[in-house]
Amino acid sequence: MPDVMIVTGGSRGIGAATAILGAKAGYAVVVNYASNRDAADKVVAAIETDGGSAVAVKGDVGVEADILALFEAADELGTLKVLVNNAGIVDALGPVAEMSAERLERIFRINVTGSFLCAREAIRRMSTRRGGSGGAIVNLSSAAAKLGAGGSRVDYAASKGAIDTFTVGLAKEVADEGISVTAVRPGIIVTDIHASGGEPDRVERISASLPMKRAGTAEEVARAILWLASPDASYSTGAILDVSGARAILP
Ligand code: NAP
Repeated sequence: MPDVMIVTGGSRGIGAATAILGAKAGYAVVVNYASNRDAADKVVAAIETDGGSAVAVKGDVGVEADILALFEAADELGTLKVLVNNAGIVDALGPVAEMSAERLERIFRINVTGSFLCAREAIRRMSTRRGGSGGAIVNLSSAAAKLGAGGSRVDYAASKGAIDTFTVGLAKEVADEGISVTAVRPGIIVTDIHASGGEPDRVERISASLPMKRAGTAEEVARAILWLASPDASYSTGAILDVSGARAILP
């Protein structure tokens, strides 16, 4: 039975880069996506062309039944060893004074509750106390968790702050069950997420003001994720790694 990696939101951006590197590292990869089947199929095809193994599985991490089906699909492939809680969304720019309850509920359901429920399913399979053989959970936070995103997206930033706390708390909770829990905090990364939040030119606009004078690539984040998920990071559980080109680094 092969070792399996689930990448939520694995069809585009950071998730796609992580799925491709995960397959290169030898995992059979579950490429989860919400709606863009073509993009997920392209990631699977790229992995298979490279000699790897992957399947695309549709499912909204904001819907518990979809999460259960996603993990059942992974069970059919092999033994779950890595969960990358990558799926995440932003909404339009706006102040808190204009945020609807529906907007807030959606951001927190997908970015936070979805990560909790996926982690729950992973722990039920990985925990050495439950007959599993251990594993790694890597969460996607954001530099926004430290910056706060005042005036633009405090909801998103706060959802990622919750991911930081979730990472530290869960790492302690399952540390003696063979499960590592870590996170990456990306800075500005070149993906579609900026356009999805109504700012297609965000990377170009901001790049010159960044410490490295450029945004990061999805693969630069994926490499950090793969390291945190690997045996090389065997004593790093609880770590939250900034992958932000020195953006949002506090003294
Ligand atoms: P992206 O390019 O917008 O891609 C999002 C991926 O998530 C797609 O595969 C999408 O699937 C999937 N997705 C969206 N909603 C979903 C849902 N409800 N259920 C399952 N899958 C869903 O995003 P990205 O920039 O790579 O971001 C990935 C993660 O990194 C997110 O958690 C984000 O908050 C975090 N992050 C990104 C940046 C950045 O600058 N890019 C910075 C900091 C943190 P479809 O293809 O089907 O739509």
